[in-house]
This record gives sequence, structure tokens and C-alpha cells, in this order.
Amino acid sequence: MIKSKLTASELMELEKKYGAHNYHPLPVVLEKGEGVFVWDVDGKKYFDFLSAYSAVNQGHCHPKIINTLVEQAHKLTLTSRAFFNSQLGKYEEFITQYFGYDKVLPMNTGAEAVETAIKLCRKWSYEKKGLPENSAQIVVCENNFHGRTTTIVSFSIDRDAYNNYGPFTPGFIVIPYNDVDALEKTIKENPNIAGFLLEPIQGEAGAYVPDEGYLKKCYDICKQYNVLFIADEVQTGIARTGKLLACDYEEVHPDILILGKALSGGVYPVSAVLTSNDIMEVLHPGQHGSTFGGNPLAAAVAISALEVIRDENLAEKSYILGEIFRNEMKKLCEKSKIAMSVRGKGLLNALVINNADHENLAWDICVKLLENGLLAKPTHTNIIRFAPPLVITELQLIDCVEIIKETIALFE
Ligand SMILES: *Cc1c(COP(=O)(O)O)cnc(C)c1O
Repeated sequence: MIKSKLTASELMELEKKYGAHNYHPLPVVLEKGEGVFVWDVDGKKYFDFLSAYSAVNQGHCHPKIINTLVEQAHKLTLTSRAFFNSQLGKYEEFITQYFGYDKVLPMNTGAEAVETAIKLCRKWSYEKKGLPENSAQIVVCENNFHGRTTTIVSFSIDRDAYNNYGPFTPGFIVIPYNDVDALEKTIKENPNIAGFLLEPIQGEAGAYVPDEGYLKKCYDICKQYNVLFIADEVQTGIARTGKLLACDYEEVHPDILILGKALSGGVYPVSAVLTSNDIMEVLHPGQHGSTFGGNPLAAAVAISALEVIRDENLAEKSYILGEIFRNEMKKLCEKSKIAMSVRGKGLLNALVINNADHENLAWDICVKLLENGLLAKPTHTNIIRFAPPLVITELQLIDCVEIIKETIALFE
């Protein structure tokens, strides 16, 4: 029997007993969110420095987005694509103009959008580029994260992500990230390359920022060899890195752009694949789809979520606050024995922890940060990612810098 009010430990116990153990959450049970804040079931308030892996760029429960959600939910939520609906066309016009593309294909999760981009790229390569049947290769990068489907984990180099999920999907060539020569060499040696899929900044790998010029050089090579440049901006896009898209830093307009996460402001799974008429036209009725993709609720919510980004200047805010945050962290790293370096762009940042003497140090720091009112999650045992909602104010950010400094000091 479910009691009306369970304690935090009872709630965690339920997840442990009845849920799959495919995550290792920090010990906090959240029940409310507003802007940069979340509250646990005991009423304790935290700054959220994960933002649901950058899905909540617009802040928790943004009133405008929630209003749209509720209003549309009262009207119509799902028709399937067997019929037209009153929201989808408006959304398609809005998002294509917003990002400067001819066409969009709406999906739900990030992984689905990546799968869609892979299928689109392969089909284009046979029908437009003229590659022999089943020969297409897509170049991807080491330490990539593009989602969890069988095809996507086929080209992961993270053992946890792929081990014992084989047999795997062939047709992918893994090259080092941030290595222009490796891309050029691979494309030159192999006539069957259809596309190059990459994250403009590697998010899950720990906010790895490539050298300046990397994206542009890769893009130019792709153009030279008629290879599609496919940017997975599921995490880096939608103002997170201080520009609308991380590719905007180098004025690169990807042939295929993949979006997800903050496309709904974190209230609903919405993802999208954007591209040109020339590429999108390889898809015909029955050749790809999704029951929920392009549903009226998602369409209405996504328009609102993108309007918030624009109306509240969140890209610019992210840029400015990111500079402030990294400067403060650099000062911390100069004095600290355990905070080694900081990297990132906009408000997607990572602090590298020296865990040589204490393997779980990053985890332990995150547990202490939690006690001190700030939620962040370690990645790869020695990296702490700091990615607050972009609606955070400068004063709030400074408060958070203090929490981080004080917490790190406890471990020196
Ligand atoms: C989170 C993420 C995905 C997967 O998105 P899901 O909605 O979890 O399927 C894909 N690519 C990148 C870069 C991501 O960060």
C-alpha cells in the first residue's frame, strides 16, 4: 500500500526495489522546481547545476512554457501523423526559420533524432551521392555520446555503454576528436564516406571543447568531399554554450542539425532533425516515422520554449555568465590542490578534479555540494559538470561560486 507521504529514504528504497538499476543517482529526492531552484521532499532548496543534462536551459517549470503545455493539453495532445494537426505546421515553419533550415523532421528523444539523422544520411548517400548499396560509412569521434540505441552504442567507445549489447550495427569509423588530419585522411582513403557525425563540444565526455577552427576546418573538408556534416547539438544547442548553437562560434551551418533536450525546456520529450530540401526529400511516406513525433502538444511546447530562449536573451546571458564562472574557477584552480582545471563554453562547464589519492573524490565533492545546497553530478570519476539553467542571475551565480569554493576547501 502507498502511504500518502513517504520519506526520502522510503522513496529511494522504492526505486531501488522496483526500478532497473541503470542509473546511480545522488541521494536526493526532488519534488518541486522553479527557475534555477529545486526542492527536495523535506523542503530543502538547491541550486540545480545539472539542468537535467541541459534540458532545462529555460529554468524549471518556466511559466510561459507550462501555460502552453496546460492549454494545449486541454485541447489536443496526440493525433498521430495519420492526420494533420493544428500545431505542427506552425511549429515547422517556426523552427526552420529560427535555425535557418528548409525542413524539419520531428521526433521525441535525442537518440531517436540521432537515429533519424543516420538514416537520412545513409539514404541520401545512396540516392543522391551515388554510393553502392549498403556501403555507406559514417565517421564519428572517440568519446562520443549520442544516445543509447543499439546502433548508437555500436560506435561508442565507452565499455559500459556497449558491452554485451552486440551484435553491433556496422558502417561507422571512429576517429580521434579534435583531429582535423584524422578526418581528412579517413575521407581520402575511403570513397564511401557519407557523413561526419560529431558533438561540437563533447558534453557527456566532460565538456571537451575542441581547438578553435576545428569545426570550420572539418566542415570545409566535408564540403570538399561531398560528405554531410552532421552536428549533434542535443546538449550544446539552444543557448547552452553561449550562442544559439555551438556551431555558431565558427559560423558553421551543419548539413544536418540534431536538437533535443532544451527544445521543450525540459517539460516534454521533443527532438528534431533539421536539414535542406535536397536532403530531406529522400524520405517518402512510410519510410520513417514516430507515433508521437510532431504531436500538437510537443509542437506548441517547442515554440514556447524557443521563444523563451529568444525573448530572455538566454544565449547572451549564457555567454557572459560563463566567462564569469570560468574566471572564478580558474582562480580556484590556481590555489587548489584538487581542483585542477576548468573548461567549457557558456554555461556548459567542467571542473577537473585530481582524484589520484582518492578515487571517488568527485563523487564525494558532489555529495558535499548537495549538503551545501547545490546539485551537480560527476562524470568519468574525476570531472564535475556545472551547467545551471540559463535563467540564473549573476548574483545567484556568485553565490554558487562561493558554495563550490567552500565545499572544495573541505577536501584540501
Ligand atoms: C543527451 C544526448 C543525447 C541523447 O538524448 P536522449 O533524449 O537521452 O535520447 C544525444 N546526443 C547528445 C549530445 C546528448 O547529450
